Amino acid sequence: MTKTNASLFARAQQSTPGGVNSPVRAFRSVGGTPRFIERAEGPWFWDAEGKRYIDYIGSWGPAIVGHAHPEVVKAVQQAAARGLSFGAPTEAEIEMAEEIIKLVPSIEQIRLVSSGTEATMSALRLARGATGRDKIIKFEGCYHGHADSLLVKAGSGLLTFGNPTSAGVPEDFAKHTLVLDYNNAAQLEEAFKASGNDIACVIVEPVAGNMNLVRASDEFLQTMRRLCTQYGAILIFDEVMSGFRVARGGAQELNGIVPDLTALGKVIGGGLPVAAFGGRAEVMKHLAPLGGVYQAGTLSGNPVTVAAGMATLKIIQQPDFYKHLTIQTRKLADGLVAAAGAAGVTFSADAVGGMFGLYFDAKVPASYAEVMQGDKERFNRFFHKMLDAGIYFAPSAFEAGFVSAQHSDAIIEETIAAAAKAFAELG
Ligand code: PLP
Repeated sequence: MTKTNASLFARAQQSTPGGVNSPVRAFRSVGGTPRFIERAEGPWFWDAEGKRYIDYIGSWGPAIVGHAHPEVVKAVQQAAARGLSFGAPTEAEIEMAEEIIKLVPSIEQIRLVSSGTEATMSALRLARGATGRDKIIKFEGCYHGHADSLLVKAGSGLLTFGNPTSAGVPEDFAKHTLVLDYNNAAQLEEAFKASGNDIACVIVEPVAGNMNLVRASDEFLQTMRRLCTQYGAILIFDEVMSGFRVARGGAQELNGIVPDLTALGKVIGGGLPVAAFGGRAEVMKHLAPLGGVYQAGTLSGNPVTVAAGMATLKIIQQPDFYKHLTIQTRKLADGLVAAAGAAGVTFSADAVGGMFGLYFDAKVPASYAEVMQGDKERFNRFFHKMLDAGIYFAPSAFEAGFVSAQHSDAIIEETIAAAAKAFAELG
């Protein structure tokens, strides 16, 4: 039988719940058959039927230098030939820690882990351990991975399924998580006034990318920083997505706010599982084996994944890397807005560094509630028209998109031309 996306999806559903290993991949939000990918190179990937797509998810962020970059592949091959995992420290881990510390000045010490979920979960435990407090503040629509305390009003995949929170999370955990509105400084002020001395930490995506793309206002972030300092709470920037994506030093470089802890992931693994959390040495000293907050991992700092991450971190430091990435992403956003305008379709777009948001709404949203006002049904029709034309956007109206350094002018122009046609057909 010929292998098709549909036959693979049918087969996958026999062995795996929903046929996928991460829910948004299942196309539940947009409908239709997920594409099963065989290979990727530069800005493209190819599905099981041999169809080529311009890829705007970049593995949900990591593929910032383009897929299968020769320098990253070589570094992985060389590391793999020396052994896959040792469970003992290596010099490569020191190099990676030193590199990240050099690039993100708020980080004095760092610990490597294997997923963004582990990074935020561990940062949270560290904040609770260091302060001796239980309560945490998060914001509606921000996703910080799937640790229990953080799966409360958590964006994207969960928004897609319409579950405000996940089954299986005990109320006793969720009750320590206070969920506030993104970009609402006054509400944050009130929350601290009411229970500031019980709050261990505030965790935020400083550029939110899991309820589509939503920028944090300066006032919101400055208020957060001031209140955390005043009440002795720890400010955690979840830069798993925005780190090395919106700027070389992450969102904190753009907004000038210094968090106490930062969670990183995605780009720092260059497509292999590396994530990290780090920050002030005074907080990090509470981690085992120095302190009483336990955290560990069989594959943490793995030599092969770290090699992919280091090779990627070298490439992103080439001159004008972020300037070029920002220009290309902005070109895409502006081109799509112009094409929609020409077709009379209500649409807006935004871009920060190599990350973008598409909204079937007249204005760029500033909160979860505003994101929800977008026309999801129109997005879904647009998504499928683009997919047919060989352009792969995120299969959900609630996800940000990603551009890589390999998205040339020709690639962006091809995308905008396809979008012009799709907008015209949307009517
Ligand atoms: N934090 C943010 C901001 C994310 O976007 C994600 C994943 O998309 C995570 C945490 C969780 O990372 P991972 O999927 O590697 O566990």
